[in-house]
Amino acid sequence: MILLRRDALRDAVLDGIALLLPVECAGCGAPDRPVCAACRPALAPDPSSRRLDDGTPVFSGLDYDGVAREVLLAYKEQGRTELVRFLAPALAAAVSAAVTAVSEVVPGPVPLAVDASGSRPLELVSVPGTRRARRRRGFDPVAGLVSRAGLDRARVLAPARPHPAQKTLSLEKRAANLSGIFTVRAPVAGRRFLLVDDVVTTGATLLAVAEALRASGAEVVGAAAVASTPRLYGSSIGLHRERSVTYP
Ligand SMILES: [Zn+2]
Repeated sequence: MILLRRDALRDAVLDGIALLLPVECAGCGAPDRPVCAACRPALAPDPSSRRLDDGTPVFSGLDYDGVAREVLLAYKEQGRTELVRFLAPALAAAVSAAVTAVSEVVPGPVPLAVDASGSRPLELVSVPGTRRARRRRGFDPVAGLVSRAGLDRARVLAPARPHPAQKTLSLEKRAANLSGIFTVRAPVAGRRFLLVDDVVTTGATLLAVAEALRASGAEVVGAAAVASTPRLYGSSIGLHRERSVTYP
């Protein structure tokens, strides 16, 4: 009789799967695991907050750098949807930090929180990609993360209109490039939203989504993301890191 510890059994099963379907660590390329043991600590949520130019607070679970960046890119651009389970905790932590910051109410099942009057729930709205990006990837990365984090989202935005890739534009042109690409397709007046995205770099996308929702009469209390770039302090539409957020 062979007795295996649970971990050993799990490893044996993973080894068997690795033989059938070779996989390498999305963080460092080491064989046989989607994310190796050495890379996993880099994905442990460490929430921080920044502010968009218009004052909207943005909470992120990780810095968009190193292993976190590699794993996010593999998830989004290489179709490695199995990586969602390694990234969703960072989103959940960011949402939790955001909800705590904007509400006196401890987060619970969706709706996440109510304001002091108890009347208006805080709803999540995920930043939509374009139809083309959705077709190319075969899935919606942000929706996948929200779902894996055990959260629900309001479907109030249409797919983003086609627009030039942000990467190809100067920082100054990015905000103008995104202005007007998001369309509200459901009644949102009087509703309160927390925006959710996978990665925040310049903040231009979140500003454009917030602008569209606010123009339709909604309140946008903040945003939460898996990761945000730590490198753009002080840029014109940048994110200014404010402080660490304590997360249990
Ligand atoms: Zn690794």
